[in-house]
Amino acid sequence: MNTVVKFGGSSLANAEQFKKAADIVRADKARRFVIPSAPGKRFPADMKVTDMLYVCYAKAKSEKGFKKDLLAIKKRYQEIIDGLGLDLILDDEFAVIEKNFTAHAGTSYAASRGEYLNGIIMAKYLGFEFIDAASVIRFDEDGHFDAEVTNRILASRLEKAENAVIPGFYGAYENGKVKTFSRGGSDITGSIVARAVMADVYENWTDVSGFLIADPNIVKNPESIETITYRELRELAYMGASVLHEEAIFPVRREAIPINIRNTNRPEDSGTWIVESTCQKSKYVITGIAGKKGFCAVNVDKDLMNSEIGFGRKVLQAFEDNGISFEHMPSGIDTLTVFVHQDEFADKEQKVVAAIHRLAHPDHIEIEGDLATIAVVGRGMKSTRGTAGRLFSALTHANINIRMIDQGSSELNIIIGVANEDFETAIKAIYDTFVE
Ligand code: ASP
Repeated sequence: MNTVVKFGGSSLANAEQFKKAADIVRADKARRFVIPSAPGKRFPADMKVTDMLYVCYAKAKSEKGFKKDLLAIKKRYQEIIDGLGLDLILDDEFAVIEKNFTAHAGTSYAASRGEYLNGIIMAKYLGFEFIDAASVIRFDEDGHFDAEVTNRILASRLEKAENAVIPGFYGAYENGKVKTFSRGGSDITGSIVARAVMADVYENWTDVSGFLIADPNIVKNPESIETITYRELRELAYMGASVLHEEAIFPVRREAIPINIRNTNRPEDSGTWIVESTCQKSKYVITGIAGKKGFCAVNVDKDLMNSEIGFGRKVLQAFEDNGISFEHMPSGIDTLTVFVHQDEFADKEQKVVAAIHRLAHPDHIEIEGDLATIAVVGRGMKSTRGTAGRLFSALTHANINIRMIDQGSSELNIIIGVANEDFETAIKAIYDTFVE
C-alpha cells in the first residue's frame, strides 16, 4: 500500500495539531508521502500564516518596515517547534527570507514560505526526507502548471525516497523562480504527488469528517457523504460547496486514485470517499445540495419563438458582445430565460437589453434580480422515480415559489431558481425531505 496524506492548515495550526497529524502518519506505514499546508487559524479571529506572509511582503514591497511582521511569523513557527520539543533552529531560513523580501523576490515566493517552513518542521518531526516543492513541481513559461514535466521529475525523484515531506501550494519555473497555485492549492500538490507515486489512496485531512450533504451554516449538523463521484463533486463544487480545491481532482482522476477526505480531530471517522464510479448506492437518493445567491433572470418573450431559427443565438450574442457569461438558459415555447450573475450584469443591463432588441426583435423583455440557484445532485436520481416530484412538493410545503427549473441531461442534478430570501429555507426543506 502506498498512501499520500495532505494536511490542511487547521490540522497544523499549532504543536497540538501537529502531534495529531504525526500520529496519523505513524499509525500506518503506507502513509509514506506527506504534504503540509502552512499553519492555519488556531482560533476564529486568528490569522493564517499565509495571510501574514502576504501582509508582510506587501510592506516589504512598498519599502515600509516589515521586520516586526516577519518576527511575528517566526514566533508562530517557534511555538510549534518548542511545543514539539524539536531541536531545530530556523534562524538561517529567516535570514534568507528577510534578504529575499528586501530584494522583492515576489508575492508567490513570499506566500510559499508558509508551506516551505512547515515542511521542514514536519520532516524533522517525522524523521522523513524533506523535498522542496520548487525542485519537483514545474510551471511553464506562461505560468501554467506543467503536468507532464512535473510527473516525470516527481516520479523519478520519489522513486528514490523511502518516505518524504513535500510542502504544498507551490512549485517553480524551470529557472527556479517560485510560483504558487491559487489559494488552497496544497490540495492540488497532494493530488499531483498521489499521481506521481501511483498511490492507492490520496488522503486529504481537514477539520470536518468529510464532505457534508449541505452547508452546515444553513442546515444544523448535516450528515456527511460516504461516497461521491468526481462528477457529482464537480457539480457541487461549482455551485459553491467547498472542501477541496476544484483543480485537485484532475491529477488523481486520470489514474482513478480515490480521494479520502478525513478529519484530523476525529481520525476514527471514515470520512468521504471521492471515486471515479461506484456501484454503491448513496445512502439517500440525493448525494448533496449546494447553491449560490446573486443571480438575475432575463426573460425574453416573442410569439412563435419556437419556430424562429437562430433566435437563441441572437439573444446570447447580446450577452457575449457585452462580455457576460450565462449560467442557465431554460426555455419555453414563446419565452427564453437567461440566468446571469447579478454583479457582472448590473452595470451593463441596459446595454444588453438594447442589444437583444436590436439583434432578436423580441416582443418583451423583463429582468428579475435577487435570485438564487440551488443544485440538488445525486447519481441515484437517474434510477429513482419521483425525485423531482418529492423535491417540488417539499418546496411547496415550505411555501417557496420556484422561479426556474433546469435538469441537466446527465440526470445527475436538478437546478432550481428561487428568490435570494428563500434560499436557506429551500435548502433546509430539501434536506429534510431527502435525508431522514
Ligand atoms: N496556505 C495556502 C492558503 O492558505 C494554501 C493551502 O492552504 O492549501 O491558501
